[in-house]
Amino acid sequence: MALRRTGRKCTRMNKNKILGVFGLFLVASIASAQAPLTKVSVDATDSIRRLYHVKMTMPVKAGPLTLLYPEWIPGEHGPTGPITDVVNVRITANGSSIPWRRDVAEMFTFQVTVPDGVTSIDIALDYIAAPDSAGFSSGASTTAKLAVLSWNQMLLYPKGRPTDQLNYQADLKVPPGWRYGTALPIQTESGQNIQFKPSSLTTLVDSPVLMGAYFKTIDLSPGSSPPHYVHIAADSEHATDAGPDQVTHWQNLVKETGALFGARHYRSYHFLLTLSDHVAHFGLEHHESSDDRTLERTLIDDSLRRADASLLSHEMTHSWNGKYRRPAGLATADYAEPMKGNLLWVYEGLTEYLGEILAPRSGLLTADEFRQELAREAAMLDTRSGRAWRPLQDTADAAQLLYEARKDYTDLRRGTDYYEEGTLIWLEADVMIRQLSHGAKSLDDFVKAVHGAPSSELMVKPYTFEDVVQALNGIQPYDWTAFFRERLQSTSPHAPLGGIENSGWKLAYSDQPTQIWRDHEAYDKSCDLSYSIGMSLKEDGSIEDVRMDGPASKAGLVPATKIIAVNGRKFNPQLLRETVAATAKSTAPIEIMVEDGEFYKTFHISYRGSERYPHLVRDESKPDLLGAIIAPHAK
Ligand SMILES: [Zn+2]
Repeated sequence: MALRRTGRKCTRMNKNKILGVFGLFLVASIASAQAPLTKVSVDATDSIRRLYHVKMTMPVKAGPLTLLYPEWIPGEHGPTGPITDVVNVRITANGSSIPWRRDVAEMFTFQVTVPDGVTSIDIALDYIAAPDSAGFSSGASTTAKLAVLSWNQMLLYPKGRPTDQLNYQADLKVPPGWRYGTALPIQTESGQNIQFKPSSLTTLVDSPVLMGAYFKTIDLSPGSSPPHYVHIAADSEHATDAGPDQVTHWQNLVKETGALFGARHYRSYHFLLTLSDHVAHFGLEHHESSDDRTLERTLIDDSLRRADASLLSHEMTHSWNGKYRRPAGLATADYAEPMKGNLLWVYEGLTEYLGEILAPRSGLLTADEFRQELAREAAMLDTRSGRAWRPLQDTADAAQLLYEARKDYTDLRRGTDYYEEGTLIWLEADVMIRQLSHGAKSLDDFVKAVHGAPSSELMVKPYTFEDVVQALNGIQPYDWTAFFRERLQSTSPHAPLGGIENSGWKLAYSDQPTQIWRDHEAYDKSCDLSYSIGMSLKEDGSIEDVRMDGPASKAGLVPATKIIAVNGRKFNPQLLRETVAATAKSTAPIEIMVEDGEFYKTFHISYRGSERYPHLVRDESKPDLLGAIIAPHAK
């Protein structure tokens, strides 16, 4: 998963010689012919009223039956199934009602007793899609012009078998005139009605559908196998206009993932790109697709495009790192089994690094833009006060809580830092492999060994911390256990910047923001003065966060209050920026008037030093390894 970090702020086991044999092996995503088939029929024609109508027919045996609603959602790493939005649940057999009762401890569980002689039950339910709101797939997913359908939100499944072994067949009715895209193979199609081929419940839930009135599909690997597509749905026709450069960069991304991983583990790959200001904004990975949601004008506004440039490269990387290969604690048998996030610094952290270096390799960002982004992340981590009490490992262990945490005092609490800090740590590992092997090896070799050949059908190969260390040692012997443990358990006030520094660059600050900095401010409608007065805020003056040791915090300013005036004049972001810039020549404190609920308060920030923004500057005493890492690799 990838999330917008606003302000300062997501059968062939023996052939892998380097990793050897793993004990656990989960496969069988394609439907098994023998298992009974549950049918699920979704009417999406009411999605513009945020309602889905669902009918299911499930083969059963007489006696007690436990039905489950998906709770732990793959890729969201937490119990985020939106069960409060499931309504109008009615269970019948041969037209007669069957009473149900929710388990009083397991809230996602329904108990029923199937009468004698009954071999299948009918389940009807409605799903209420969320209105304009934050969140992930259970957040806003519909507008008057488009919808993202996540199957897990609108079905039940019987307890007792892994979801790989449950066979489902879905059909879908889309609103009139709408088109759609999905990785789920189609059996028949007629007008608004689509019947999909049977699949395992795992694959059905892993294959969302994007549909919309303004819809476009672009072939990203014409004439090649497996095929790759981007399906675009937007709130306006104009917003679907991907320019020729954008399409070329997406096609390059397909080629660069081929060069990086050396194998593919899907039948076809589909980017489901939603462009709307009124859906939740994030990316959610799937094995053969990704649910990628960003602002409506992202394809036609260069600032927005750059600010979210690595969304698709991050999510596609997950097909290998996250879906094909997955930490053992996240490779759960069904959606009731709790997930363990302790290796999210690999699942998300390595994906973040690979997704970020794939952006310049593909042309989605220039080399300079990539470095500007890296500087922004490094500065955020290097100044975050929460790192003095919460080690990185705990941000992963507590992921299911931290995704839901409020954004105020993020500096103090730390968030899901294993994304950006994963970039720093895996960059450092990459640089170390290159140096120790005198340029003969790189992290790309590790990635090929772990995620690469042979190309395979859909399968999950779980791994442990020890497997990661063993695979790295197969590429370049080193004390990788100590390398990771030190970084995962550190409570140093500073971030691990060794990868940046050993690759020939340094984190520095100047009074001029980078273009990428401005792009993020435009995307987030924010004004980020974290490294001068130590405060980030929204354009309307709402304070998102303060740096605990920064001038604003020392003056008494608090997150989740709102600035209304600066030096006696009504607030606007430009006024505040110019006031901070003027401190280079003035000793007068900055007077800030704040609205805090029903109270007005005045604070005086003592700060001198102008605006301050992070950059990477070249260290000519060392070779530019970073340049070699982000150069195009595909031939
Ligand atoms: Zn991710």
